[in-house]
Amino acid sequence: MLRLHDSAQGAVVPIEPRVAGRFSMYVCGPTVYELPHIGHGRFTLTWDVLRRWLLFTGLDVTYVSNVTDIDDNIITKANREGRTEGEVAAQFETAWWDAMAALGVLRPSSIPHATEFVAQMISTIEELLENGHAYRTDDGVYLDTSTVAGYGLLAGQPLDSLRAGARVEANEQKRSPLDFALWKAAKPDEPSWDASFGAGRPGWHTECVVMSLALLGEDFDLHTGGQDLKFPHHENERAQAVALGRGFARHWAHNGWVEVEGVKMSKSLGNFTSLTDLLARSDSRAYRLLILRAHYRAPIEVTGGTVSDAERALERLDSVARRFDLEPFDPDVPVLLADHPELAAGSEVLDAFGAAIEDDLDTPKAIALLFELATRANALADEGRDDEARETARVLQVLAGSVGLVIDGSSERIADEDLGLAAERDRARAERDFAESDRLRDELSARGYVVEDTAAGTRIRRR
Ligand SMILES: [Zn+2]
Repeated sequence: MLRLHDSAQGAVVPIEPRVAGRFSMYVCGPTVYELPHIGHGRFTLTWDVLRRWLLFTGLDVTYVSNVTDIDDNIITKANREGRTEGEVAAQFETAWWDAMAALGVLRPSSIPHATEFVAQMISTIEELLENGHAYRTDDGVYLDTSTVAGYGLLAGQPLDSLRAGARVEANEQKRSPLDFALWKAAKPDEPSWDASFGAGRPGWHTECVVMSLALLGEDFDLHTGGQDLKFPHHENERAQAVALGRGFARHWAHNGWVEVEGVKMSKSLGNFTSLTDLLARSDSRAYRLLILRAHYRAPIEVTGGTVSDAERALERLDSVARRFDLEPFDPDVPVLLADHPELAAGSEVLDAFGAAIEDDLDTPKAIALLFELATRANALADEGRDDEARETARVLQVLAGSVGLVIDGSSERIADEDLGLAAERDRARAERDFAESDRLRDELSARGYVVEDTAAGTRIRRR
């Protein structure tokens, strides 16, 4: 059975689905006002890996991930550029799904947009006003967090320290710095919706609680997101569900963030300016492998060096597929164990791989097994044991596919001679012989390669 670190319980616990054979999860999605950044790639890949694995084992997974299509940033950008909020949101939502497709992240089962659920948000806020958990101010409606049992559960900090850490705001009508806006009163130059408690627009935390309950129902199995969403976003979603007296997520899981040299990454740090940029400049599978080789709760570094390293590791796996002429799987179609009788129950490697994944997503252990399979397939083939070798390679391909990693032997192999030229160019650069380094770049380019400088040295790929 799957075990995950539950952020609300602070421990790794068994995750038993609400309904046997089915799994329901809500993953907080993007606010669409800029290109997706590297951290977005991490959370979408992490939860795609879990989703794919559950599908692989035969569960029917409902995966809901929202799009926040109205918020301060979208409004600011629209006003600055003389466009509508809808235009801005549509532009960056397209960029988002393009990046997700390139990453091989499966489309969610449903994609609620905040602006489509405003009526439900309004009735939720009316209910919270009626039951005394919310109050009105001049600038909107707030949740009275002091009335919520267990507030601070996800933050994992005493309320006093949360209060001390809360932003000091000009709003003197707020009863506590921890209270948060369910509704923001209408302002000039901002889109707004009519409501019994005054025109305005919903707060972010209200959007997710309403959409997750509307689409997954009470007591759904898992609510996930990046670690930075634990508090206040997830805390505040939970607080509203508690105040409504409704069962909410039975478990919470959070992935670690992306760091560059030990610092949590913001958009501008690092070698890649955005996820879109990273995908344009690397094998799109490399980021997935980078994530799989780290534990999902640990921080990772995404730099030219770590991405190139993942690409080289992928080449080791691809070379096995090439040697045995394996057709790559379609990344848009989840791989199902039921379709692969060659991996029947009782297979030792399947058991070991599954045990690692289900043990709080120990993907580093599972991925190490894939590399062992690659070594074994090659060794068997070297000994002339072709059938066993091919079978081992197939098992490798299917297990990699179970977590969305497509092993692809169809890409053209980079000739050793050309790799030699790239290495020569690194030597020339190290010796500051830039004329020679430029000559080698031109030669590689003439041979049909894109030549890039990375932290790990010259990188070439077929144009
Ligand atoms: Zn959310």
